[in-house]
Amino acid sequence: MLCNLDVEGATKGQPPLDRCSFLKCTPASGAATVTGIAEPATAVTPAEDDARYIVEARFYRKLQNRKVKCTLCPRECTVRDNERGYCGVRENRGGTFYSLVHSRVAAANVDPVEKKPLFHYLPGTTAFSLGTAGCNVNCKFCQNWNISQSQPEQVPAQYVPPQRVAELAKQYGSPTIAFTYSEPVVFSEYLMDASDAGHEAGIRSIVVSNGYMQEDALKAAYGKMDAVKIDLKSFSESYYRQVVTGQLKPVLDSLVNLRKLGKWTEIVYLTVPTLNDSDQEFRGLAQWVKANLGEDVPLHFTQFHPEYLMKNLPITPVATLERAKAIADAEGLHYVYIGNVPGHPAQNTYCPKCRKMLVERVGFTASRMLIEKDHCPFCQQPIAGIWHA
Ligand code: SF4
Repeated sequence: MLCNLDVEGATKGQPPLDRCSFLKCTPASGAATVTGIAEPATAVTPAEDDARYIVEARFYRKLQNRKVKCTLCPRECTVRDNERGYCGVRENRGGTFYSLVHSRVAAANVDPVEKKPLFHYLPGTTAFSLGTAGCNVNCKFCQNWNISQSQPEQVPAQYVPPQRVAELAKQYGSPTIAFTYSEPVVFSEYLMDASDAGHEAGIRSIVVSNGYMQEDALKAAYGKMDAVKIDLKSFSESYYRQVVTGQLKPVLDSLVNLRKLGKWTEIVYLTVPTLNDSDQEFRGLAQWVKANLGEDVPLHFTQFHPEYLMKNLPITPVATLERAKAIADAEGLHYVYIGNVPGHPAQNTYCPKCRKMLVERVGFTASRMLIEKDHCPFCQQPIAGIWHA
């Protein structure tokens, strides 16, 4: 949910913002109107308000006849003057390409990092989380379609410049900023500037992304992240074409490049009944992860719920998720989780050597955390992850 503020993230002794002052839902669109997080109000005209969200894009080439080619994601849109790319948030104005969503926050919240989910990154902490309009794919099951499939003008938003993002993270006691909700690839310039501001203030950054991105852009933008969660939506090109409107290969390339960059990365695989839930696909995925990323990369098999354009399929049976986990375990992955099934024991972290439970999770809360100095306290096995601030 985009519209629930977890005020428990606020630091003791600091005045908590009440839920309504922080973020108010707009039932008509389902989108979140963010209030109370913008910079103190200054009188600006509508034109001035519009102008402050627009910055020149950092990933494009100029072509003849005032056309541009975007080099941010694998779509490589060629965009004519006065037109926008597929994602709807990058526009050609007179032969110069612009992002329209810098500091234009359409959804914000304070979430547990376990909700992203990142299970091997500062368990029990929160992330000040935000997103803008726009996405570079169109998943038929998107939970946040109301902002991801919208143009910037179609969703209520607030001006939250990079330094303000860092201030808000501090105000809420979050050691991390999370770029999430829609698709951070399309607001890369804002992500880069806000993560820089966060790092200057001692705040880390994480991103929740589809990984559908060009290599140079990934290095420049996600190279600034402290951890990354990639939604690997299937292990089949045909699924990516038909259900995601994208391609698998560039996402696999991004995962390999994140490993080369040394970024802590976790993978989520939304398991959709009948579409990406075969033994063969689970096995192929697990074998690819082990061979290309290593056995310590966490892999989360999460439960699908009917949403958006895919309301004809049932919720994923828990038995399917357990079958996926059993296959990935058998292939030798060390940390295979089952997600969106509250109370399932496969939400806990176990030592891959002695099998003792090291992190217990209840809902989105890490209720017990036994890892000491990145090791299992029972058998001294190293446990991969970023466990302590
Ligand atoms: S980021 Fe947007 S404009 Fe750029 S290539 Fe991708 S979809 Fe096209």
